Amino acid sequence: MKKLQMVDLNSQYQDIKEQIDNSIQQVIDQTSFINGPQVQTFKQNLADYLNVKHVIPCGNGTDALQISLMALNLQPGDEVITVDFTFAATVEVIKLLGLTPVLIDVELDTFNISITALEKAITPKTKAIVPVHLFGQCANMEAILKLAKKHNLYVIEDTAQALGADYIFTDGTTKKAGTIGTIGTTSFFPSKNLGCYGDGGAIFTNDDALAHTLKGITNHGMYQKYYYEVVGVNSRLDSIQANILNIKLPHLDNYNKARQQAAAFYNHAFANCPHIITPITSTFSNHVFHQYTLRITNGKRDELHEYLKEQNIPNAIYYPVPLHNQKAYKQENVIEENYHNTNTLVQQVISLPMHTALDTEQLEFIVKNVLNFINNTY
Ligand SMILES: *Cc1c(COP(=O)(O)O)cnc(C)c1O
Repeated sequence: MKKLQMVDLNSQYQDIKEQIDNSIQQVIDQTSFINGPQVQTFKQNLADYLNVKHVIPCGNGTDALQISLMALNLQPGDEVITVDFTFAATVEVIKLLGLTPVLIDVELDTFNISITALEKAITPKTKAIVPVHLFGQCANMEAILKLAKKHNLYVIEDTAQALGADYIFTDGTTKKAGTIGTIGTTSFFPSKNLGCYGDGGAIFTNDDALAHTLKGITNHGMYQKYYYEVVGVNSRLDSIQANILNIKLPHLDNYNKARQQAAAFYNHAFANCPHIITPITSTFSNHVFHQYTLRITNGKRDELHEYLKEQNIPNAIYYPVPLHNQKAYKQENVIEENYHNTNTLVQQVISLPMHTALDTEQLEFIVKNVLNFINNTY
């Protein structure tokens, strides 16, 4: 059996090695390392794929979030609502900018932002909502947009884990994740659904004025050479990464399909199994399975984690501690009951190997071992 890995980047590379190697060599030959024509091409390629007006590449997915918040001209004390169950980047940038993060609960079944919690958390100080399309499926954007419109709030979609996912509106039309709110952000970290070979990120918007502002902020707030209109940052997608992404982007849909096939295999194997809840796919989104995350309901998640490790099956706990209980983000007077679902999920979730090169032999081996543990037959 091929060695099991949480993410197998090498198999993916081997399939397109010659093109990737050439794409890197091309940038070196042209010495177009920063803002080369490859970056311009990628911007257009990704805008076409997402059907969005503007793509602004940047250094990574965390910068993408930070730059988005900077562009909205929020003031210290303004409240930004995001989820308690996500990677730190989402809340980190809110704090860094002196804004007030308001962490709220997620839904137990989708791991995504709870609309009831969102409605309750909105105050006169709320300026923006940052829904995260966690593990590869979209948050309930229609409900979010409705609340945002009612209260005049910006919506920044953190699409780091869901690039290529489709949101399905009630009228049947679809839009790509990240192109629905005011701004969308993503990451090209190597293990993401569309990963480059280093750090990379991008911001999307259909708003011309915002696109102009965002672009300037990524480049020191400079709109005309050596004239600085706003305080900016230096955050760029380099040409080598952009050209690697030019090769990989046409494969994204197939990569996501491979993930969906692996997920279908897992779902089938664990269907009706006691103590295991398989991930659900919402009616309003497809799922591109950045992670395949089970809920273990018999209190033995940690034992399963250890057992699988002993069998050399990589697995991970995304995420082990809710953000509201992290030292850096602790808040005063927290009512734990408001975080019932995240507090539950951190004890139940376990993510199994998920990538584009899992074969049947590997999947069968993983499934067999999980079932052995659950049925106590190991
Ligand atoms: C990976 C990730 C980010 C940050 O992306 P980087 O490119 O690593 O900075 C932000 N949000 C979520 C939900 C992520 O998974």
